[in-house]
Amino acid sequence: MWRATVLTIFPEMFPGPLGGSLAGKALAAGLWSLDALDIRAHANDRHNTVDDTPAGGGPGMVMKADVLARAIDAAGTDTRPRLLLSARGVPLKQSRVAALAQGGGVVLICGRFEGVDERLIAARQLEEVSIGDYVLSGGEIGALAVIDACVRLLPGVMGKEASGAEESFADGLLEYPQYTRPAVFEGAPIPEVLTGGDHGKVKAWRQAEAERLTRERRPDLWAAYLARGKPPKPRG
Ligand code: SAH
Repeated sequence: MWRATVLTIFPEMFPGPLGGSLAGKALAAGLWSLDALDIRAHANDRHNTVDDTPAGGGPGMVMKADVLARAIDAAGTDTRPRLLLSARGVPLKQSRVAALAQGGGVVLICGRFEGVDERLIAARQLEEVSIGDYVLSGGEIGALAVIDACVRLLPGVMGKEASGAEESFADGLLEYPQYTRPAVFEGAPIPEVLTGGDHGKVKAWRQAEAERLTRERRPDLWAAYLARGKPPKPRG
């Protein structure tokens, strides 16, 4: 079973929003498992201290390497990747999510305050992962994002629709626009090609739209797509 183990000083934040919807049903059905472990349980003083002032001075507090190391070691020594949520980590991509979903699960370490003692990252071989170029107040929302992205790809969680084959990023492109009834919404009709019943034309339109959106919105993805040698189909 795919297992998520989260180390946090706020275990009550889990499963949080993952307890509802399809991820929650899948959790209850035993399609994946979740353990939220309290880092504070591994403090070794009367005050359950998990942080201390930064060496060299400066604002804020730093999470202690010794306490975190004990928490990680107590969580077990299996082979799952250990990810530290971190604003300066490698940005999380769908390809990494898909690889994580195919493995045995993840161990997620949630930072707080100004972050964690650098020595801990090396000593426990943590892989720093960022969920975007902005700063959160803690790793918990990042951990929820990582788990959600992985769980929806697990077999049996979302059914056919999450096969992922046509989703954003699957082939390096953003997804084409979607429509459903009513046929006319506030004067705007559904594009004719989608209601005409010609599957070949629908496919070509979707491909062209995916390419247009990617070119317009994500020059970085577009450049990578072109570099991979999949030039856009000629369009009239
Ligand atoms: N001083 C740090 C920010 C600390 S924010 C810096 O400038 O990089 C506190 C914690 O929130 C971090 O330890 C990390 O676990 C989490 N966090 C903040 N932003 C994040 C992001 N973009 N992605 C993943 N985790 C993040």
